[in-house]
Amino acid sequence: LDSYDAIVVGAGPAGLTAASYLGRFRRRVLVLDGGRPRAAWIPTSHNTPGFPDGVGGPELLNRLRAQAEQYGASIEAGRAGELSRGPAGFEVAFDGMAARAPFVLMATGVIDIRPPLPGIEEAILKSVVRVCPICDAYEAIDKAIAVIGDGPLGVREALFLRTYSPRVTLLHTGKSGLGGGSDTLARAGVETLEVTVSDITLGEAGLTVTGAPSRTFDHLYLALGCELESRLAVAWGARHDDAGKLVVDAHQQTSIDGLYAAGDVVLGLNQIAVAAAEAAIAATAIHNRLRG
Ligand SMILES: Cc1cc2nc3c(=O)[nH]c(=O)nc-3n(C[C@H](O)[C@H](O)[C@H](O)COP(=O)(O)OP(=O)(O)OC[C@H]3O[C@@H](n4cnc5c(N)ncnc54)[C@H](O)[C@@H]3O)c2cc1C
Repeated sequence: LDSYDAIVVGAGPAGLTAASYLGRFRRRVLVLDGGRPRAAWIPTSHNTPGFPDGVGGPELLNRLRAQAEQYGASIEAGRAGELSRGPAGFEVAFDGMAARAPFVLMATGVIDIRPPLPGIEEAILKSVVRVCPICDAYEAIDKAIAVIGDGPLGVREALFLRTYSPRVTLLHTGKSGLGGGSDTLARAGVETLEVTVSDITLGEAGLTVTGAPSRTFDHLYLALGCELESRLAVAWGARHDDAGKLVVDAHQQTSIDGLYAAGDVVLGLNQIAVAAAEAAIAATAIHNRLRG
């Protein structure tokens, strides 16, 4: 079993930033790269600090990876399947192998829930379909914006987008009604259409919603929530909210001693800047504990 000072689970912005910090603290760190991070879907990010002309998700990830490797991080492809505690700390099993370390950082992120629309992956990469108004609503100013939702999140995102455009429509797919949300939306000037997913057709530069009459929009924002990749920690009894987001202390430690978390998997704002900040805090806390 290979031993490290810390094992970072996940190779998105949070995991790779933590790996750079730990490397620069002269710690032996293993990063488990479980596959395509959420950040890899970003066509161009315009709110990432230090990139006034924007940066694509894949390019940012390449830079973060190069930086982590420059300071000695070992990055291995593999999905952590199990976390256990042995005499010398945590043991992480991945793809038939295992490694151990006294500290583990969960940087496993979330997975956006997507409606089953043909062409949705290409549409995300073309910025027609979007998932994060905080990230890119600025690039939708005065556009015709549709938001697909099936509950309160759809209402909240549609209202959020009103800062950017007078033309915001909530495409409501839920079986349950919107309750009090309908009045709030109407007061804010947000139109609501009851639709089924099959009414929506994605195109090169927008989308169409069939109906009488049919409607076209420039962008479709998904407000269907996400799946949390927090299972490894939750299985250990780590504190989490109803959605599965991990609750951490001021040093990013979960309620399990030695188990830290950073990035989207943590309760808080899902942003690259936040992921990097939480990674810096977690890595520094881990280093200080290793110093004894
Ligand atoms: C289309 C789109 C546009 C966005 N635009 C912006 C933007 O402009 N600005 C901004 O700040 N944010 C943006 N975001 C959000 C941003 O991508 C996330 O906040 C950021 O990626 C979070 O980083 P993370 O490291 O926590 O998670 P991720 O980037 O999701 O990385 C998590 C990694 O952990 C891996 N993993 C999960 N489970 C395991 C396991 N068991 N074992 C090993 N590995 C595992 C995953 O495979 C993944 O590689 C956008 C997101 C999307 C989808």
